[in-house]
Amino acid sequence: MTITKAQQYLTNFRNIGIAAHIDAGKTTTTERILFFTGRNRNIGEVHDGAATMDWMEQERERGITITAAATTANWTRSGTNEEYVVNIIDTPGHVDFTIEVERSMRVLDGAVAVFDSSQGVEPQSETVWRQADRYGVPRIAFSNKMDKTGASFDLVVNDIRERLGAIPAPVQYPMGQENEFKGIIDIIRMQAHTFTNDLGTEITVSDVPEQYMDKVREMRAALIEAAAEVDEDLMMMYLEGEEPTAEQLVAAIRKGTIEKKIFPVLCGSSLKNKGVQLLLDAVIDYLPSPLEVPAIKGTLEDSEETREFPADPEGKLAALAFKIMADPYVGRLTFVRIYSGTLTSGSYVYNASKEKRERVGRLLKMHANSREEVTELRAGELGAVIGLKDAGTGNTLIGDGDDRVLLESIDIPEPVIKL
Ligand code: GDP
Repeated sequence: MTITKAQQYLTNFRNIGIAAHIDAGKTTTTERILFFTGRNRNIGEVHDGAATMDWMEQERERGITITAAATTANWTRSGTNEEYVVNIIDTPGHVDFTIEVERSMRVLDGAVAVFDSSQGVEPQSETVWRQADRYGVPRIAFSNKMDKTGASFDLVVNDIRERLGAIPAPVQYPMGQENEFKGIIDIIRMQAHTFTNDLGTEITVSDVPEQYMDKVREMRAALIEAAAEVDEDLMMMYLEGEEPTAEQLVAAIRKGTIEKKIFPVLCGSSLKNKGVQLLLDAVIDYLPSPLEVPAIKGTLEDSEETREFPADPEGKLAALAFKIMADPYVGRLTFVRIYSGTLTSGSYVYNASKEKRERVGRLLKMHANSREEVTELRAGELGAVIGLKDAGTGNTLIGDGDDRVLLESIDIPEPVIKL
């Protein structure tokens, strides 16, 4: 696929959800992601551990916890100057909100599945995993709570294989578990990341310690084998006994992840801030940009004809309202994902679900602790619209005067009955 100049920004976008069994650490992981991306953006100068903790505590009191249906964060891939936009879409984690989970699945391009490493894959994680399967959402798995008594990375890896029937691709290995959890080995680059302060915010990168060498070599060989199965170039190298570079291996795993054939597995402790930055790097490395997922389809009114809306800010407007929230200051906030085209403040759109023309008021991008007013939201972006009176969740918004199209309807399953 050729990427036009207008689409270029999309290569640095990741629209993700964080899915988990209740208590696995979804909230803590989200908070820490917002902490690290916020620090990345605003307060890069804080080196002192105590100050970092204070800041985090204050944020917690003020409620850094995700309150918006979509929060925009920025991340610079470690070891590079590449800036990325990571939109975090709130996915409800409770089984009785299954319909809401399904709805949110439609607006994300990839997900982080968080597991409690002392519990492995729990029944609810299985439910969410199956929903992600139905919507074809590529995933990476995060084996959280590595510091907790009973933590086992191998348990999570094995459960992914056995309980979920998926092919795990462990790209990391923990150095120590439970209260001995000291660091993370990057199997792809054969590097050890050791946490050198209690907060987990200071990291030293070094060679893999001798004691882990055999294990890690064995895991790397298995990883190459799994990646070769999904990537022909790597398979050729593998058959010829050639060792791939880290970049080649990442590219193959990325391909396999986007095709939902393999699932990279990472580890850490979000409570102790350990592994969260590496997790963000993995979001960049393995999860797709809006250009790498199939274009959303719509059906033309009164016909069977379908149309595709590839992610392109210059295309016809196609947006989906996925959550309505009442805000004490501005009233009704309609969260939207723009698939194609550009939504402009002050413009008119056509709500194809309600068959009504509606005026777009102001547009907001929600950050962890601020709101940014913008004049437009482009394809691939998510934000909130103030001023839409009739739009409800699941409604399609298109350009006023465009051919009337409804985006693929949500195939809502039978309600889950709670016993
Ligand atoms: P959620 O229900 O998935 O959103 O889970 P929370 O983020 O609220 O976490 C549930 C509990 O697990 C809380 O008491 C957290 O403090 C704790 N927790 C979260 N992450 C970790 C971790 O990495 N290690 C340990 N030991 N506890 C954690």
